Amino acid sequence: MSRVFSGIQPSGELHIGNYLGAIKNWVQLQREYEAFFCIVDYHAITIAYAPEDLKRRRREMAVSLLAAGIDPARATLFVQSRVPEHTELAWIFNTITPLGELERQTQFKDKATRQESVNAGLLNYPVLQAADILLYQATHVPVGEDQKQHIELTRDVALKFNTDFDVDLFVPPEPYIGGGTAARVMSLRDGNMKMSKTDPSDMSRINLTDSDELIGQKIRKAKTDPEPLPNDPAALDGRPEAMNLVGIYAEVTGESVERVLHRFAGQGFGAFKPALADALIALIAPLRSRLEEFREDPAELDRLLRSGSERAAKIAAPTLAAAYDAVGLTR
Ligand code: ATP
Ligand code: MG
Repeated sequence: MSRVFSGIQPSGELHIGNYLGAIKNWVQLQREYEAFFCIVDYHAITIAYAPEDLKRRRREMAVSLLAAGIDPARATLFVQSRVPEHTELAWIFNTITPLGELERQTQFKDKATRQESVNAGLLNYPVLQAADILLYQATHVPVGEDQKQHIELTRDVALKFNTDFDVDLFVPPEPYIGGGTAARVMSLRDGNMKMSKTDPSDMSRINLTDSDELIGQKIRKAKTDPEPLPNDPAALDGRPEAMNLVGIYAEVTGESVERVLHRFAGQGFGAFKPALADALIALIAPLRSRLEEFREDPAELDRLLRSGSERAAKIAAPTLAAAYDAVGLTR
């Protein structure tokens, strides 16, 4: 049976980078595969946070995923910390993962430079991620491009475990990264940095909760260059902000970058930005109103997440038991 697993951190609000790069694919894949989607709160505590914010954001993330189209009747939507098998398997994986592999992960290096002090959890993040994925024997992991390196590490961990303990337990998964410009949406303030929930500037991203006015304002203030838009996509090379905004427009409207450029060639950002804001508003406004509906019934949300976590634990427990047996532990 082919299975899909993916996670998202409740470290802030769902933004269009998450949506275009990952969640849109989750919604598609839940129709074809047995799917597990996880709000990864154990991951979210690896960087500075306030416990009260974490509680609120976990619920907000669940609501955002439902509004974006995750259907609990098709997919198992659950909270990572409700299924402690994740950390139990991660501990075992820690003992077979070379330290050097963790130290060279780009994500770790990026996040470590932004923190005043770096905790061991941030370094071990990809080990926990390997446990998340491998507990469910997932064959495909829909993620944005920034996670590709972590999925490669997950494959290495799966193969090393099987070799070290002479078993055929873990399936090395494939990353599922959509084509086009959605796989890597960049910050609105710096075209060389990816859009992130934890970027200190909210102006760097468009969130699914943003009002129409705020979307307009963020796009108006988005960094650009003084050149008009070219006719040829190749001429966007060396213009990261222009390339990003055109890429977002293309993804949101479903048009190709070529087509978008044919229409706006020769025009400046004064003409392009309002069109981009309109396209984003058309995408986000309906999602935002669905979000309001899901917020109205917190008891139903709790019930849904509890039952998702129970379903997940039923799949995770036997995998963990087999891993314990292979390494000589008892549970
Ligand atoms: P954080 O800043 O806390 O790391 P994030 O925005 O990177 O937050 P994650 O929870 O780490 O979000 O990742 C959730 C999913 O969104 C992953 O599949 C990740 O690859 C994808 N993703 C994150 N940022 C982008 C982006 N800028 N473009 C495309 N996909 C993205
Ligand atoms: Mg991230």
